[in-house]
Amino acid sequence: MALLSTALRRARDWGECALNLAFPWPETTAAEPEPVCRPYCEQCGDPFSAGETLSRSFVCTACAGHDWHFCWARASYRTKGQVLDAIIGYKYRDESYHHAHLVAWLTETFDRYAREGDWQGLVPVPLYHRRLRERGFNQAVELARGLGSRRKMPVLNCLYRYRETPSQTGLERDVRWKNMQNAFGLKRGFDVRGKNLLLIDDVFTTGATTNACAQALAHAGAGRLAVLTIARS
Ligand SMILES: [Zn+2]
Repeated sequence: MALLSTALRRARDWGECALNLAFPWPETTAAEPEPVCRPYCEQCGDPFSAGETLSRSFVCTACAGHDWHFCWARASYRTKGQVLDAIIGYKYRDESYHHAHLVAWLTETFDRYAREGDWQGLVPVPLYHRRLRERGFNQAVELARGLGSRRKMPVLNCLYRYRETPSQTGLERDVRWKNMQNAFGLKRGFDVRGKNLLLIDDVFTTGATTNACAQALAHAGAGRLAVLTIARS
């Protein structure tokens, strides 16, 4: 029975993973990591596909007029190939050996975009407590700790997730964003007032989750906020 339960849980996790990453499943390619290159949206970091013809900085249509609570989001790689394989293996197949290169990729993002900034801490995107219990770990916390150790940055695991949010794929954008409102809050005992903080996660997809986290931090009085991930879709 326990085995059956585990198998069902894994199957569900895999299904959700495929939906959440919004990629065809299974993704079997082991292609080399594909870097995110300029030009990309200055706000959300989304690469412009016809980029070779664009020389000035720009904000994408999805970001234009959007009420973001962070200054910018950056990733080093696209969510595909070896990067996607490693993230899925780490989160859903207990392949803990991916940790070192996932941290290395996240450190690349930090070094490229945040090393010169005046940042006081790394804040991992939290999991809902039930999901954390099922998975046994929060990948964002583990990745933030790895980066924090490498770059001597404190990790503030200071956000609480009040509820799980339904799979976002297929939802209209407005519904998707409403689903995330007030999903996060500051844990007791933390004071982020005036602190410049980097939100940490493995993948940036729509930005709805990280934006809701940033909203909670801003509401708690945080200073400058930005988002670092390994990959973006
Ligand atoms: Zn954008």
